[in-house]
Amino acid sequence: MGHLQLSELAPRVLQSEIRAMSVACDAASGINLAQGVCDTDVPEPVAAAAKTAIDTGLNIYTRLDGIERLRTAIAKDFSRRHGIAVDAEREVLVTSGATGALHATVMALLNPDDEVILFEPFYGYHVGTLKSLRVQPVIVPLEDATWALDMDALRSAITSKTRALLINTPSNPCGKVFTRAELEKIAVLAQEHDLFVFTDEIYEHFVYPGHEHVSMATLKGMRERTIVMSGFSKTFSITGWRVGYLIADAKWAGSIGYFHDLMFVCAPSPFQYAVATGLEELPASFYRELATAHEVKRGMLVSALHDAGLTPHVPDGAYYILADASSIPGSTAAEKARTLLKRTGVAAVAGSAFFRAGYGENLLRFCFAKKDEDLRKACEWLRER
Ligand code: PMP
Repeated sequence: MGHLQLSELAPRVLQSEIRAMSVACDAASGINLAQGVCDTDVPEPVAAAAKTAIDTGLNIYTRLDGIERLRTAIAKDFSRRHGIAVDAEREVLVTSGATGALHATVMALLNPDDEVILFEPFYGYHVGTLKSLRVQPVIVPLEDATWALDMDALRSAITSKTRALLINTPSNPCGKVFTRAELEKIAVLAQEHDLFVFTDEIYEHFVYPGHEHVSMATLKGMRERTIVMSGFSKTFSITGWRVGYLIADAKWAGSIGYFHDLMFVCAPSPFQYAVATGLEELPASFYRELATAHEVKRGMLVSALHDAGLTPHVPDGAYYILADASSIPGSTAAEKARTLLKRTGVAAVAGSAFFRAGYGENLLRFCFAKKDEDLRKACEWLRER
């Protein structure tokens, strides 16, 4: 065989089912509740600041860890919300989305064949990112339907190769918000086995009444071993801008930054300025209203799914709903998603995209971070068609 070949990994890395459904949805002129595209409006001061930044020439590479104004705003915001000090100069890295944060973190902290534990249902990019860097994802299922943490399953998944746990709270796709008690138990285990904890907190502002977002970094003994990852894609509805961040002990942040530099050089410059303006100027009420508005959207979609015979798991956070698709014909969730799109014009993602092979085939994931008029129409189509 010649040398002109794809890598060993390449045949197993394909377009995600989420993107595939978005393409199918466009072709069918449907309403896309598949991808978490988040097409609600960008907050006005953020949009205005982006335009100003471009017009005033803030278009060149920034420092590899991001502009000082944004790092300071991120550190202040995190300290205010979580009550722990963050050093904007040494512990904050502005990244190309939370996605870039995880990529650089894995490159800087892990070696090939190390194992990372994730909970199922999982976010597909987490598993894909680990695999693409030759790190082994080890999947621990949450309890059926309640998504409660099964500590025995977690304990028995730890091996001599385990180096980290990856926690997504609030979670995509099931909307689980890890409780403080659960996180405390995981923290004890992480310290006992000397593991890193990578936390994806991108939905931190989408938490519904009765639940509280807790960052693992704030728990006793966890600051040094926790890499907090988050971003502005969801909070400011700017998924295409690619601005996120991570907060980590200075011991790790520097090296993570060098890897991020290799891949991305820096997060987009004018958008860093725009996001800094958002953090500096938007009042606390902005974030409260964001959660309230999405709680209303959640209610709209939950009710439509019930009426359509697709019993929903009501999420405690984030903006997705996993719904029971047993009533839709098809032998796999991917077939069911395509049948639903054909029948109703509403695109959802096959639940199997978030589970190990063979699981999630009776679930579909619907995203409700849509403009009210689009969501209303999708609800109508789900009910009537
Ligand atoms: N993490 C999770 C859990 C997500 O659902 C998403 C968006 N689908 C991302 C990260 C992507 O974040 P970013 O745009 O900041 O890369």
